[in-house]
Amino acid sequence: MKLSGKVALITGAASGIGRETALLFAEEGASVVVCDINDEGGTDTAARIIQEGGRAIYVHSDVSKAMDCRNMVQRAESEFGGLHILFNNAGIMDSRDDNAEATDEAVWDLTMNINLKGVFLGCKYGIPAIKRSGGGSIINTASFVALLGAATPQIAYTASKGGVLSMTRELAVIHAREKIRVNALCPGPLKTELLMKFLDTEQKRQRRLVHIPAGRFGEAFEMAKAALFLASDDSSYVTGAEFTVDGGITAAYVTPE
Ligand code: NAD
Repeated sequence: MKLSGKVALITGAASGIGRETALLFAEEGASVVVCDINDEGGTDTAARIIQEGGRAIYVHSDVSKAMDCRNMVQRAESEFGGLHILFNNAGIMDSRDDNAEATDEAVWDLTMNINLKGVFLGCKYGIPAIKRSGGGSIINTASFVALLGAATPQIAYTASKGGVLSMTRELAVIHAREKIRVNALCPGPLKTELLMKFLDTEQKRQRRLVHIPAGRFGEAFEMAKAALFLASDDSSYVTGAEFTVDGGITAAYVTPE
Protein backbone atom coordinates (compact mmCIF):
# COMPACT_ATOMS: atom_id res chain seq x y z
CA MET A 1 0.00 0.00 0.00
CA LYS A 2 1.35 3.39 -1.01
CA LEU A 3 -0.10 5.55 1.78
CA SER A 4 -0.10 3.37 4.88
CA GLY A 5 0.28 5.36 8.09
CA LYS A 6 -0.54 8.62 6.30
CA VAL A 7 -3.31 11.08 7.10
CA ALA A 8 -4.92 12.76 4.08
CA LEU A 9 -7.32 15.71 4.08
CA ILE A 10 -9.36 16.16 0.90
CA THR A 11 -11.65 19.11 0.19
CA GLY A 12 -14.56 18.75 -2.20
CA ALA A 13 -14.66 15.05 -1.33
CA ALA A 14 -18.45 14.65 -1.50
CA SER A 15 -18.33 14.02 -5.24
CA GLY A 16 -16.26 13.85 -8.41
CA ILE A 17 -12.47 13.92 -8.19
CA GLY A 18 -12.44 14.42 -4.41
CA ARG A 19 -14.65 11.43 -3.70
CA GLU A 20 -12.76 9.07 -6.05
CA THR A 21 -9.50 10.21 -4.52
CA ALA A 22 -10.78 9.71 -0.96
CA LEU A 23 -11.79 6.13 -1.81
CA LEU A 24 -8.47 5.39 -3.53
CA PHE A 25 -6.31 6.94 -0.79
CA ALA A 26 -8.19 4.90 1.83
CA GLU A 27 -7.64 1.72 -0.20
CA GLU A 28 -3.94 2.60 -0.17
CA GLY A 29 -3.94 2.77 3.62
CA ALA A 30 -4.48 6.46 4.38
CA SER A 31 -6.81 7.77 7.08
CA VAL A 32 -8.98 10.28 5.27
CA VAL A 33 -10.56 13.54 6.42
CA VAL A 34 -13.43 14.06 3.99
CA CYS A 35 -14.30 17.78 3.72
CA ASP A 36 -17.14 19.43 1.84
CA ILE A 37 -20.24 21.60 2.23
CA ASN A 38 -22.43 18.84 0.81
CA ASP A 39 -23.09 16.95 4.05
CA GLU A 40 -25.03 14.12 2.44
CA GLY A 41 -22.35 13.37 -0.16
CA GLY A 42 -19.50 13.85 2.32
CA THR A 43 -21.04 11.57 4.91
CA ASP A 44 -21.60 8.99 2.19
CA THR A 45 -17.94 9.12 1.06
CA ALA A 46 -16.74 8.58 4.63
CA ALA A 47 -19.29 5.79 5.19
CA ARG A 48 -18.13 3.96 2.06
CA ILE A 49 -14.54 4.05 3.28
CA ILE A 50 -15.47 2.74 6.72
CA GLN A 51 -17.65 0.01 5.15
CA GLU A 52 -14.58 -1.20 3.24
CA GLY A 53 -12.59 -1.38 6.48
CA GLY A 54 -10.82 1.97 6.07
CA ARG A 55 -10.53 5.00 8.36
CA ALA A 56 -12.38 8.24 7.60
CA ILE A 57 -14.31 11.11 9.13
CA TYR A 58 -16.51 13.70 7.47
CA VAL A 59 -16.02 17.33 8.50
CA HIS A 60 -18.36 20.02 7.18
CA SER A 61 -15.95 22.62 5.78
CA ASP A 62 -16.57 25.62 3.58
CA VAL A 63 -13.11 26.27 2.17
CA SER A 64 -13.86 29.97 1.72
CA LYS A 65 -14.14 30.35 5.51
CA ALA A 66 -10.97 30.57 7.60
CA MET A 67 -12.56 29.07 10.72
CA ASP A 68 -13.77 26.03 8.78
CA CYS A 69 -10.31 25.46 7.32
CA ARG A 70 -8.70 25.78 10.72
CA ASN A 71 -11.23 23.32 12.13
CA MET A 72 -10.78 20.67 9.40
CA VAL A 73 -7.03 20.62 10.00
CA GLN A 74 -7.54 20.44 13.78
CA ARG A 75 -9.85 17.46 13.27
CA ALA A 76 -7.19 15.67 11.20
CA GLU A 77 -4.73 16.06 14.07
CA SER A 78 -7.16 15.26 16.87
CA GLU A 79 -8.74 12.20 15.18
CA PHE A 80 -5.78 10.74 13.33
CA GLY A 81 -2.73 12.30 15.02
CA GLY A 82 -1.31 14.44 12.20
CA LEU A 83 -1.51 15.52 8.57
CA HIS A 84 0.69 14.37 5.68
CA ILE A 85 -1.37 14.89 2.54
CA LEU A 86 -3.49 17.95 1.79
CA PHE A 87 -5.57 17.85 -1.37
CA ASN A 88 -7.05 21.33 -1.95
CA ASN A 89 -9.57 20.20 -4.51
CA ALA A 90 -12.92 21.91 -3.80
CA GLY A 91 -14.04 24.19 -6.60
CA ILE A 92 -17.04 25.63 -8.38
CA MET A 93 -17.85 26.58 -11.94
CA ASP A 94 -20.79 28.98 -11.71
CA SER A 95 -23.21 28.79 -14.63
CA ARG A 96 -23.42 32.62 -14.57
CA ASP A 97 -19.65 32.88 -15.14
CA ASP A 98 -19.20 34.31 -18.62
CA ASN A 99 -17.03 36.88 -20.38
CA ALA A 100 -15.81 40.06 -18.67
CA GLU A 101 -18.74 42.14 -19.88
CA ALA A 102 -21.47 39.74 -18.79
CA THR A 103 -20.12 38.41 -15.49
CA ASP A 104 -21.41 39.99 -12.28
CA GLU A 105 -18.94 41.05 -9.65
CA ALA A 106 -20.70 38.76 -7.16
CA VAL A 107 -19.98 35.71 -9.37
CA TRP A 108 -16.33 36.78 -9.63
CA ASP A 109 -16.06 37.15 -5.83
CA LEU A 110 -17.79 33.83 -5.09
CA THR A 111 -15.57 31.94 -7.54
CA MET A 112 -12.39 33.54 -6.24
CA ASN A 113 -13.35 32.94 -2.62
CA ILE A 114 -13.84 29.21 -3.13
CA ASN A 115 -11.42 28.31 -5.92
CA LEU A 116 -8.48 30.54 -5.00
CA LYS A 117 -8.83 31.78 -1.43
CA GLY A 118 -9.93 28.26 -0.47
CA VAL A 119 -6.55 26.89 -1.56
CA PHE A 120 -4.73 29.66 0.32
CA LEU A 121 -6.70 28.95 3.51
CA GLY A 122 -6.13 25.21 3.17
CA CYS A 123 -2.39 25.90 3.01
CA LYS A 124 -2.44 28.56 5.74
CA TYR A 125 -3.76 26.08 8.28
CA GLY A 126 -2.54 22.85 6.69
CA ILE A 127 1.14 23.69 6.30
CA PRO A 128 1.86 24.09 10.05
CA ALA A 129 0.20 20.70 10.66
CA ILE A 130 2.19 19.02 7.87
CA LYS A 131 5.37 20.50 9.35
CA ARG A 132 4.45 19.07 12.76
CA SER A 133 4.05 15.67 11.06
CA GLY A 134 7.55 15.87 9.55
CA GLY A 135 6.59 16.84 5.99
CA GLY A 136 4.26 15.70 3.26
CA SER A 137 2.57 16.49 -0.01
CA ILE A 138 0.10 19.21 -1.02
CA ILE A 139 -1.88 18.88 -4.22
CA ASN A 140 -3.89 21.84 -5.51
CA THR A 141 -6.49 21.27 -8.20
CA ALA A 142 -6.03 23.81 -10.99
CA SER A 143 -7.27 23.08 -14.52
CA PHE A 144 -6.18 22.99 -18.14
CA VAL A 145 -7.83 26.42 -18.44
CA ALA A 146 -4.97 27.76 -16.32
CA LEU A 147 -2.78 26.95 -19.32
CA LEU A 148 -5.05 27.59 -22.32
CA GLY A 149 -7.81 30.06 -23.14
CA ALA A 150 -11.16 28.26 -23.21
CA ALA A 151 -13.53 28.74 -26.13
CA THR A 152 -16.52 28.81 -23.76
CA PRO A 153 -16.01 31.94 -21.62
CA GLN A 154 -15.70 31.53 -17.83
CA ILE A 155 -13.57 34.49 -16.86
CA ALA A 156 -13.67 34.11 -13.07
CA TYR A 157 -13.05 30.36 -13.13
CA THR A 158 -10.12 30.67 -15.53
CA ALA A 159 -8.52 33.48 -13.53
CA SER A 160 -8.98 31.55 -10.26
CA LYS A 161 -7.23 28.49 -11.68
CA GLY A 162 -4.37 30.62 -13.02
CA GLY A 163 -3.96 31.88 -9.47
CA VAL A 164 -3.91 28.35 -8.10
CA LEU A 165 -1.13 27.44 -10.50
CA SER A 166 1.13 30.40 -9.70
CA MET A 167 0.44 30.08 -5.95
CA THR A 168 1.44 26.42 -6.17
CA ARG A 169 4.83 27.28 -7.67
CA GLU A 170 5.63 29.77 -4.92
CA LEU A 171 4.47 27.40 -2.18
CA ALA A 172 6.67 24.66 -3.66
CA VAL A 173 9.74 26.89 -3.60
CA ILE A 174 9.14 28.31 -0.14
CA HIS A 175 8.45 24.97 1.57
CA ALA A 176 10.80 22.61 -0.30
CA ARG A 177 13.42 22.57 2.47
CA GLU A 178 10.70 21.72 4.99
CA LYS A 179 10.07 18.43 3.18
CA ILE A 180 6.76 19.63 1.82
CA ARG A 181 6.15 19.06 -1.86
CA VAL A 182 3.46 21.16 -3.56
CA ASN A 183 2.08 20.35 -6.99
CA ALA A 184 -0.86 21.41 -9.12
CA LEU A 185 -3.10 18.86 -10.75
CA CYS A 186 -4.42 20.23 -14.04
CA PRO A 187 -7.32 18.05 -15.17
CA GLY A 188 -8.70 18.26 -18.67
CA PRO A 189 -12.46 18.30 -19.26
CA LEU A 190 -14.09 15.59 -17.14
CA LYS A 191 -17.37 13.80 -17.09
CA THR A 192 -18.21 15.08 -13.59
CA GLU A 193 -21.25 17.03 -12.47
CA LEU A 194 -19.28 20.27 -12.35
CA LEU A 195 -18.54 20.38 -16.07
CA MET A 196 -21.62 18.60 -17.35
CA LYS A 197 -23.80 21.20 -15.58
CA PHE A 198 -21.81 23.94 -17.33
CA LEU A 199 -21.77 22.26 -20.77
CA ASP A 200 -25.47 21.64 -20.54
CA THR A 201 -26.28 21.02 -24.22
CA GLU A 202 -24.95 18.42 -26.65
CA GLN A 203 -23.75 21.30 -28.84
CA LYS A 204 -21.63 22.76 -26.02
CA ARG A 205 -20.22 19.32 -25.17
CA GLN A 206 -19.28 18.66 -28.80
CA ARG A 207 -17.66 22.13 -28.97
CA ARG A 208 -15.33 21.07 -26.15
CA LEU A 209 -14.75 17.52 -27.44
CA VAL A 210 -13.40 18.86 -30.73
CA HIS A 211 -10.26 19.94 -28.87
CA ILE A 212 -9.48 16.71 -27.03
CA PRO A 213 -7.12 14.36 -28.89
CA ALA A 214 -8.34 11.44 -26.78
CA GLY A 215 -11.82 12.09 -28.18
CA ARG A 216 -13.61 11.73 -24.84
CA PHE A 217 -14.08 13.44 -21.49
CA GLY A 218 -11.88 12.16 -18.65
CA GLU A 219 -13.19 10.32 -15.61
CA ALA A 220 -12.80 11.35 -11.97
CA PHE A 221 -10.99 8.11 -11.10
CA GLU A 222 -8.31 8.97 -13.67
CA MET A 223 -7.59 12.14 -11.66
CA ALA A 224 -7.54 10.14 -8.43
CA LYS A 225 -4.75 7.97 -9.81
CA ALA A 226 -2.73 11.05 -10.69
CA ALA A 227 -3.38 12.50 -7.23
CA LEU A 228 -2.15 9.22 -5.70
CA PHE A 229 1.11 9.55 -7.61
CA LEU A 230 1.57 13.13 -6.36
CA ALA A 231 0.60 12.18 -2.79
CA SER A 232 2.89 9.15 -2.51
CA ASP A 233 6.66 8.73 -2.40
CA ASP A 234 6.50 7.65 -6.05
CA SER A 235 6.75 11.38 -6.80
CA SER A 236 9.42 12.11 -4.16
CA TYR A 237 11.40 14.44 -6.48
CA VAL A 238 8.38 16.17 -8.01
CA THR A 239 7.51 19.61 -6.67
CA GLY A 240 6.23 22.84 -8.18
CA ALA A 241 4.93 20.90 -11.18
CA GLU A 242 1.86 21.54 -13.27
CA PHE A 243 0.73 17.98 -13.72
CA THR A 244 -1.58 17.85 -16.74
CA VAL A 245 -3.94 14.89 -16.98
CA ASP A 246 -6.00 16.05 -19.89
CA GLY A 247 -6.37 13.60 -22.77
CA GLY A 248 -3.79 15.67 -24.67
CA ILE A 249 -5.80 18.89 -24.84
CA THR A 250 -2.86 21.13 -23.90
CA ALA A 251 -0.59 19.41 -26.43
CA ALA A 252 -2.90 19.80 -29.40
CA TYR A 253 -2.91 22.42 -32.12
CA VAL A 254 -5.17 20.44 -34.43
CA THR A 255 -6.83 17.27 -33.20
CA PRO A 256 -7.06 14.14 -35.37
CA GLU A 257 -10.37 13.41 -37.12
P1 NAD B 1 -17.65 18.22 -8.38
O1 NAD B 1 -18.66 19.31 -8.50
O2 NAD B 1 -18.07 16.82 -8.59
O3 NAD B 1 -16.91 18.33 -6.97
C1 NAD B 1 -16.61 19.55 -6.36
C2 NAD B 1 -16.93 19.44 -4.88
O4 NAD B 1 -16.56 20.66 -4.23
C3 NAD B 1 -18.42 19.22 -4.58
O5 NAD B 1 -18.59 18.10 -3.74
C4 NAD B 1 -18.85 20.48 -3.89
O6 NAD B 1 -19.88 20.32 -2.95
C5 NAD B 1 -17.55 20.94 -3.27
N1 NAD B 1 -17.56 22.36 -2.91
C6 NAD B 1 -18.10 23.39 -3.60
N2 NAD B 1 -17.95 24.53 -2.91
C7 NAD B 1 -17.30 24.21 -1.76
C8 NAD B 1 -16.87 24.96 -0.63
N3 NAD B 1 -17.07 26.29 -0.56
N4 NAD B 1 -16.23 24.31 0.37
C9 NAD B 1 -16.02 22.97 0.29
N5 NAD B 1 -16.42 22.20 -0.73
C10 NAD B 1 -17.06 22.82 -1.74
O7 NAD B 1 -16.51 18.63 -9.41
P2 NAD B 1 -15.09 17.97 -9.79
O8 NAD B 1 -15.04 17.92 -11.26
O9 NAD B 1 -14.79 16.78 -8.99
O10 NAD B 1 -14.15 19.18 -9.35
C11 NAD B 1 -13.09 19.07 -8.44
C12 NAD B 1 -12.04 20.08 -8.81
O11 NAD B 1 -11.56 19.79 -10.12
C13 NAD B 1 -12.52 21.53 -8.84
O12 NAD B 1 -11.55 22.37 -8.26
C14 NAD B 1 -12.65 21.81 -10.32
O13 NAD B 1 -12.53 23.16 -10.60
C15 NAD B 1 -11.52 20.99 -10.87
N6 NAD B 1 -11.59 20.68 -12.29
C16 NAD B 1 -12.64 20.01 -12.80
C17 NAD B 1 -12.68 19.76 -14.16
C18 NAD B 1 -13.85 19.08 -14.81
O14 NAD B 1 -13.92 19.03 -16.03
N7 NAD B 1 -14.78 18.51 -14.04
C19 NAD B 1 -11.63 20.16 -14.99
C20 NAD B 1 -10.56 20.82 -14.43
C21 NAD B 1 -10.55 21.08 -13.07
